Amino acid sequence: MTTAAVPLPNLYGLDREGLIAALTPLGLEAYRAKQVFAQIYRRGVHDPQAWTDMPAAMRQLLSTQSAVEPPRISSFVVALDGTIKYVLELPSGGQVEAVAIPAEDRMTFCISSQVGCAYGCTFCMTAKLGFIRHLSPGEIVGQVDALLAATNTPRGQHNVVFMGMGEPLHNIENVLQAIAILTDDDAFALGPRRITVSTVGLIAGIDRLRAAAVVPRLAVSLVAADQEVRASLMPIARSVTLDDLAAAVRRFGDGKRDVPTFEVVLLDGVNDSPRLAHQLGDLAVRARAKVNLIEFNPTPLLPYLPASEERMNFFLKILKQRGVVGTVRRSRGKDAFAACGQLAFLQKTEGGGAESSLPLRPERSGGTNALS
Ligand code: SAH
Repeated sequence: MTTAAVPLPNLYGLDREGLIAALTPLGLEAYRAKQVFAQIYRRGVHDPQAWTDMPAAMRQLLSTQSAVEPPRISSFVVALDGTIKYVLELPSGGQVEAVAIPAEDRMTFCISSQVGCAYGCTFCMTAKLGFIRHLSPGEIVGQVDALLAATNTPRGQHNVVFMGMGEPLHNIENVLQAIAILTDDDAFALGPRRITVSTVGLIAGIDRLRAAAVVPRLAVSLVAADQEVRASLMPIARSVTLDDLAAAVRRFGDGKRDVPTFEVVLLDGVNDSPRLAHQLGDLAVRARAKVNLIEFNPTPLLPYLPASEERMNFFLKILKQRGVVGTVRRSRGKDAFAACGQLAFLQKTEGGGAESSLPLRPERSGGTNALS
């Protein structure tokens, strides 16, 4: 035996073809890859020695010649409203964050697709990190796996939203591979309609998603239905026009049961004017989209405050007048810095330093925020 200088191939995150490619050199036939696939993702058994549908010698071989390493939870914070933010340690180094959001009738996992983000939206904490790297399919799927186990949620009985760190359509190949594993009946068996990909609005990516083998729901972070206002908050709007974006969203929704969503995080005095409410109504009609108004989750590190309740209601009224379905998403997990787009906070402050004040072990975090 030589001491392995090269790390063992990590089987976690490989799809069927990837497993065949990794297992063939070890002398395993293709049907064994199917067994390994089901063991890892359907049964959630990560120790090859426990794969009892295989001969003992094969189990031994797999446990010495390969590794099955999902991301592991290293810490978590429970917010007053029951939202739990997890920090996961990635086997290849680094950390990523994911949030479990329980509601009366469902559980939602908000997951990350990248470490950092390249798009520089001015109201988003992740943007402050800049782009660090893409997550692999295993690092994406592994967040769901870890949160399922940690929250004791039955497989298939939860939603997954790509609204954590990163721009999923910038990492579309790995995101599609992760979606393929999440929806595979031999793996997580999640219905495609339980998965939502949220994007800054990359047109080519939206079209690619539309043509994918498994098509999830689409949400576009519109923020403002005015080119200039949008560009002042989202640099991507300098190269993507609202006309093109509306057309792409309309194409995506065409012939589908699920209507795409425009997400609009309302910022006090910035994008909450009556004019913008009317423009939003127009654009949503053109794009055949519904609208989700998001309550901004403020942080001292960003110069924005949430729009007033009156403004929120005004937007809802205008949308209703135009026949557009409008809903409000209340910010969840405020005291745990768990809002989508706020996941970068711990990244920056963890590991010592005066700012590192959040508990690393499960305990109710302090604070007096009334969470709705
Ligand atoms: N890059 C993707 C996914 C990550 S952001 C996208 O842009 O859609 C997911 C959502 O969180 C976006 O709609 C964004 O507007 C919102 N968001 C960002 N920061 C927020 C904050 N502090 N409070 C509330 N929502 C926020």
